[in-house]
Amino acid sequence: MHPFVLERPKDLASALAFRAQAGRNDAPIEYIAGGTDMVQLLQEYVRKPDRLVSLAGLLDRRIEASPEGLRLGAAATMAEVAAHPAVVQQYPLIAEALLNSASPQVRNQATMGGNLLQRTRCPYFRDVGYAACNKRAPGSGCSAIGGENRWNAVLGTSDQCSAAHPSDLAVALVALDAVVEVRGQGDRRSVPLDDLHRLPAESPHIETVLEPGEVITAITVPATTASWRSHYLKVRDRASFEFAVVAAAVALDLDGSRIRQARVALGGVGTKPWRVRQVESALAGASMEPEALRRAATLAAHGAHGYGHNDFKIELMQRAIVRAIEIAGAHA
Ligand SMILES: Cc1cc2nc3c(=O)[nH]c(=O)nc-3n(C[C@H](O)[C@H](O)[C@H](O)COP(=O)(O)OP(=O)(O)OC[C@H]3O[C@@H](n4cnc5c(N)ncnc54)[C@H](O)[C@@H]3O)c2cc1C
Ligand code: SF4
Repeated sequence: MHPFVLERPKDLASALAFRAQAGRNDAPIEYIAGGTDMVQLLQEYVRKPDRLVSLAGLLDRRIEASPEGLRLGAAATMAEVAAHPAVVQQYPLIAEALLNSASPQVRNQATMGGNLLQRTRCPYFRDVGYAACNKRAPGSGCSAIGGENRWNAVLGTSDQCSAAHPSDLAVALVALDAVVEVRGQGDRRSVPLDDLHRLPAESPHIETVLEPGEVITAITVPATTASWRSHYLKVRDRASFEFAVVAAAVALDLDGSRIRQARVALGGVGTKPWRVRQVESALAGASMEPEALRRAATLAAHGAHGYGHNDFKIELMQRAIVRAIEIAGAHA
């Protein structure tokens, strides 16, 4: 493992001051929360910070539900959020996405903030034996182009990077219009989760709009009416402990067998959590008939681009949307 010094600041202001000394991504000073992603990357020499600034004990871990919505402290663990009665009853899409993620051991340790900022599972990013990876080593090329790209994205890609965003939680939260509360050395600010992650374009190593040193302090989710029905469908190579090949997060406001409104987001296929608003527009007012659902789901493929091994995802994501809607509708 790459050797590092662990700093344990006494308060968040000191942590922010420490981290602000360094640059944006893969800096010599980095934060660590639950450590479930960071430690793997240190072990594989993918990340080589000289210092880690521990956020343990410095961030809110409360989970609070009110008539306005849900607030998740950034330090709340995946397990705590998935088991919270308000989340289970009022925001089951979030609980489902979390329970379909990782393993009980990881969920006990991993935090909300760390989950949203975990790094891609593109195998070339995680194996320093491959020199070419624009995300790990800017300007070095992309081993996935012409290489093994089954796990990579088909939406939001560029000729510099097609790495899929890995978080299941982020997909559910994007569907629910979540907002991230952020704090730096200066002001606090709020960022819609849909705007937090950047497309790779020409600079895949810059993954979010966070300024160097900014921390996520909380996630807020506006209240949805009790009548909404939802489902998180995750297609993966094995039934647990595995990332999504394709995932669909769906929330529906139903009037009998007619859809008043729908929210749909995709995982495993986008370079960021991928909201498909064109599908939502087509679903508004549509019936739950399979043909109507299929027609709307085809719109998800707009702009999709396969790289060979992952071409199948373009069809699979449409089927996942239809299936997730049918299951959500059956909950009604
Ligand atoms: C075996 C395994 C299987 C997994 N399967 C899945 C899966 O199926 N689905 C899924 O979604 N995830 C999966 N994961 C990923 C797991 O969910 C993440 O590793 C975890 O959520 C990261 O949270 P953490 O608190 O441990 O973050 P850390 O590892 O501590 O940090 C991750 C990153 O976030 C930064 N960071 C952490 N907190 C903050 C903050 N508050 N503000 C700013 N920066 C911060 C750190 O600097 C670091 O860059 C899996 C992980 C493992 C090990
Ligand atoms: S797809 Fe992105 S992360 Fe994967 S090898 Fe190419 S540049 Fe690196």
